Amino acid sequence: MASAGSSPLKILLVGSAGVGKSSLMSRFVHNRFCSRYRATIGADFFTKVMELEGQRVTVQLWDTAGAERFQSLGMALYRGSHCCVLVFDVTVATSFQAVAAQRAEFLMQADPPSPKQFPFVLLGNKTDLPGRQVSPREAEEWCAQTQAQYFETSAKDGTGVALAFHSASQAALRQV
Ligand code: GDP
Repeated sequence: MASAGSSPLKILLVGSAGVGKSSLMSRFVHNRFCSRYRATIGADFFTKVMELEGQRVTVQLWDTAGAERFQSLGMALYRGSHCCVLVFDVTVATSFQAVAAQRAEFLMQADPPSPKQFPFVLLGNKTDLPGRQVSPREAEEWCAQTQAQYFETSAKDGTGVALAFHSASQAALRQV
């Protein structure tokens, strides 16, 4: 069985500004939701210790919003990732359309040893809101093409968040 040892599993959250990356991390790590909008500058990370496949692993969740403005910072941040969580807002079609380019940018910056096997998890967030613009089917079709896993979440009411991060952490563990 793969062992994470003492080094943390590194999971990056990528997505357009405002889709809910910080809120999802805060919901998962602290079980809290804050409705105040704060654009992330540079990079933030949260750590959570989890029990996965019978072992204690430390998961580091990185929010990279803004990092793309600093090319060199982007590369340093993305390198050594074990999983990438792509986030869009189900009520904003453009945030879903942006995901393909964000995935490609991640692969370019992270430069993982086996890009074809690198795990991506796609999250359609803000499912508590009315006015959906992206159907689960569209998102699932994209995932079938790119071999990503799809989850729908709401950082506000907590729906799907634990399951999504659990799956991302398991996928990350398989990369160790
Ligand atoms: P980020 O830029 O991707 O990190 O996005 P934030 O986490 O800062 O969230 C942007 C805004 O969307 C904030 O006002 C959040 O409170 C709100 N938000 C985030 N997730 C949800 C959600 O699941 N449902 C709703 N209704 N609002 C959300």
